[in-house]
Amino acid sequence: MRYDILIIGAGPVGNYLASLLAKDFSVAVVEKKNSFGGKACTGIIGAENYEKLGLPKKAILNELYGATFYSRIQSFSIRRKSPQAYLVDRKTLERELARKAMKRGADYLMSTTFKGFKDRKALLQHLGDVFEVKADFYVGADGVNSTVAKVIGAKSKAEFLTGYEVEVLGEFDRKNVEVWVNKETTPDFFAWVAPIDEETARVGTFGKIEHLNRFLRLRRFEPTRILEFKAGSVGFGWRKPWVRGNVALVGDSALQIKPTTAGGIVYGMLCAQALQKALLEGRPERYWDHCSWVRRQISFGLKFRKLFLGLNQDGIERVFEVLGSEEAREVIETQADFDDHLRTAKAILKRPRLLAKLIRVSPSLIKALL
Ligand SMILES: Cc1cc2nc3c(=O)[nH]c(=O)nc-3n(C[C@H](O)[C@H](O)[C@H](O)COP(=O)(O)OP(=O)(O)OC[C@H]3O[C@@H](n4cnc5c(N)ncnc54)[C@H](O)[C@@H]3O)c2cc1C
Repeated sequence: MRYDILIIGAGPVGNYLASLLAKDFSVAVVEKKNSFGGKACTGIIGAENYEKLGLPKKAILNELYGATFYSRIQSFSIRRKSPQAYLVDRKTLERELARKAMKRGADYLMSTTFKGFKDRKALLQHLGDVFEVKADFYVGADGVNSTVAKVIGAKSKAEFLTGYEVEVLGEFDRKNVEVWVNKETTPDFFAWVAPIDEETARVGTFGKIEHLNRFLRLRRFEPTRILEFKAGSVGFGWRKPWVRGNVALVGDSALQIKPTTAGGIVYGMLCAQALQKALLEGRPERYWDHCSWVRRQISFGLKFRKLFLGLNQDGIERVFEVLGSEEAREVIETQADFDDHLRTAKAILKRPRLLAKLIRVSPSLIKALL
């Protein structure tokens, strides 16, 4: 078997890339699982980018218009007139993207694991059989624990976190996400409650399982009303290079994920577009440059993460006092962008009163953000 491009991993990013590339190249995708979906993921995707990327409407389970932020002792809400994000079904999303890629000519090899390279060919295993596939270019879209990244010797400088998530029964405002920032309950990350409908939500956090358990108790969820439990990893930082010779990494395998919220689907897909552009130019080495917007967002997100880790709960309470003020909420409601956190922060820090108050909370780190 011989292809122009072999993509390893049929997650959302690998499938999206396959759908882009199959228009101009012969493409195959290998996936170690025997079906799509199943990964721990809340499935929240910014609505604007969802439309721009042309993602399937069929996968949308719920439309989210706003969020309520809770600290230990305060809360404030942000609400918009149009949906800001969608909550999607990952299995449908992945299947629909794969279907599109197949219709454009991509071949899919399911239950097939990439083992390594041998004589510039990919060594694959399907059930008991080991075989080789030759391609001119290979893409590792095989997630955070990427084998392709290991094989090409990519180096990670990152913080790796495990996320724990349950689907739970309760009573919810289906248009509104809850974001709980309380280091006494979930010290490593915020906890989220993302409704699927009025009576079901995905609830999770990153850190340790006891953090999620503590949050479930605090939010008064019944442990006997849990429909599903999942765990998965994310990496915040850099794994480089993103391209080496005729191999590139995309999506979580390159840690193209927001360190602010752990959302990786949009950044991975934007980088897939960048890779498509570089391949069409016949200059794969340009891929890194074409991802400059995502790289800037990741750099900003890492600084923001440092700011979060450096604050104790009293500091978080002071940040809440600023962000919950009428002026800040007005800026967030009118200018915040679900995926462009750099723009959102700039809009807040442009207001002298808000800037002065935030500098009082943590002068050195706010300067670093600027
Ligand atoms: C708890 C949690 C909640 C999250 N919530 C959100 C969210 O709300 N919104 C959001 O945007 N992101 C979220 N994320 C992050 C999101 O899940 C990832 O960014 C996204 O899945 C990345 O997609 P990907 O295609 O790059 O990788 P993956 O989804 O990890 O897909 C990789 C694929 O490669 C396959 N594979 C791996 N190794 C091999 C191999 N050797 N051979 C063949 N196939 C292989 C895997 O089976 C898998 O199908 C969350 C993550 C976690 C852990």
